[in-house]
Amino acid sequence: MEAKSDNKSAAGWRFDNSYARLPDTLFSRAAPVPVAQPALAVLNETLAAELGLDPSALQKGGADIFAGNLVPEGAEPIAQAYAGHQFGHFTNLGDGRAVLLGEQITPQGARFDIQLKGSGQTPYSRRGDGRAALGPMLREYIISEAMHALGIPTTRSLAVTTTGEQIAREGMLQGAVLTRVAASHIRVGTFEYANAIGDRAALEALTRHTLERHYPELAGADNPAQVLLGGVLERQAKLIAQWLCVGFVHGVMNTDNMALSGETIDYGPCAFIDTYDPATVFSSIDRGGRYAYGNQPNIAHWNLARLAEALLPLIDADKDKAVSAAENALGEFPARFRTHYTAGLRAKFGLVGEEDGDLELAQEFLDWMRMSLADFTSSFVALTAAAGSGEMTGPLNLGGGLPAGWYAKWTERVKRGRTNRSGIVEMMRKANPGVIPRNHRVEEALAAASAGDFSVMHRLLDALRDPCVETPGNSPYRDAPPSGGPPYRTFCGT
Ligand code: AMP
Ligand code: MG
Repeated sequence: MEAKSDNKSAAGWRFDNSYARLPDTLFSRAAPVPVAQPALAVLNETLAAELGLDPSALQKGGADIFAGNLVPEGAEPIAQAYAGHQFGHFTNLGDGRAVLLGEQITPQGARFDIQLKGSGQTPYSRRGDGRAALGPMLREYIISEAMHALGIPTTRSLAVTTTGEQIAREGMLQGAVLTRVAASHIRVGTFEYANAIGDRAALEALTRHTLERHYPELAGADNPAQVLLGGVLERQAKLIAQWLCVGFVHGVMNTDNMALSGETIDYGPCAFIDTYDPATVFSSIDRGGRYAYGNQPNIAHWNLARLAEALLPLIDADKDKAVSAAENALGEFPARFRTHYTAGLRAKFGLVGEEDGDLELAQEFLDWMRMSLADFTSSFVALTAAAGSGEMTGPLNLGGGLPAGWYAKWTERVKRGRTNRSGIVEMMRKANPGVIPRNHRVEEALAAASAGDFSVMHRLLDALRDPCVETPGNSPYRDAPPSGGPPYRTFCGT
């Protein structure tokens, strides 16, 4: 008992619970449900240290906390209420298998949600068991940490703990809990919920809380709801552009899976493209291609319209005025997205400065990739290598052969922009990571882990840590998958 109570604070936990001080319609008090036999499967020691936590104390006693068997001192666990449009249809949801322990305040004074996902039933569980399986929790750990290393805003993963319990899915699977770290878990669906229950005070408090927490520079504005909408829109425009530039497909961009902070959240059936095709869908349940790679900007725009609707009562007491202000704000999304996406493409192609034909030049290459089933990641790595070779006359290792004249056009354009070559190559290298969590590598790691061997996953995690630098350790992870076989499919894997 002695050791257990030491555990509650020894690791450096320093909780505040500002969300739990919001109007209580927004959440329910809910403790994690203890599990049979907590055991750490993976601990993110680097992240632990960033949070002001002691990695060795967590290695020793962290499993009990991460599995929900021991609530750390100062934490006030809650399940958050939210709604959401899932594949276009409005539903009431809430944390049905997660609890927010509280907000860890780092030694630098930053605030991070610490959430346990897979921690048992809550008042929002509906018919679910509140649990999660090991495979999908490790998958979220791997992909979210890869996204972080790629420089893309994302929730992060502090630990995965096995529970020693079996859960019933297609068959029986090992249960696990993911400890997720996020700027916050406030979603578009959180606002939809506050609006739907007609609790104006809660909607106002949530708006104020979100602005102060994520957009402090906008917090003093006359119309908080309107500036919040503008702020979120800008961050989402940038985020989706970043996704496209590395080939990421979220897979289930329901409004409950879009964070107001601008972080990527809720890794379910997500995956990275190998061959380039804007119509790529991995998720087995996305039959209409709603969340296809190339449709993500449209869907983000659609989701932001749902956020705008939820904010209407606060934007203006006069409904018509509110609608027209919201429409004006939303109308900016396509141009904002295009700005970020074009900037991202210019970096990928090594184009310094802005010329009229830049997008066409990029598009011609993208079209060629699609037609020739070229690998997205490897093609850009090859372009980067070409830019770095002599006078760009070196071999361009791109199997299928480019459209006539493209290489010369591109070379001329790069040279026109050149301030100095090493700067251009450096820019391209950063924009064209060679190591992404390739689907076949993720599957291989998960298969080994579910059989009790975590070493394959650890090698993959090491390789993903430095995606833009070629190292002996990561070179096996740079290759496209062997061709052939059925298209890759992901499952919502709950
Ligand atoms: P997700 O697919 O993780 O985004 O979850 C969508 C919604 O379903 C959220 O409200 C979850 O809390 C809920 N949910 C998913 N799996 C379960 C489960 N096993 N038990 C209870 N609720 C769940
Ligand atoms: Mg979700």
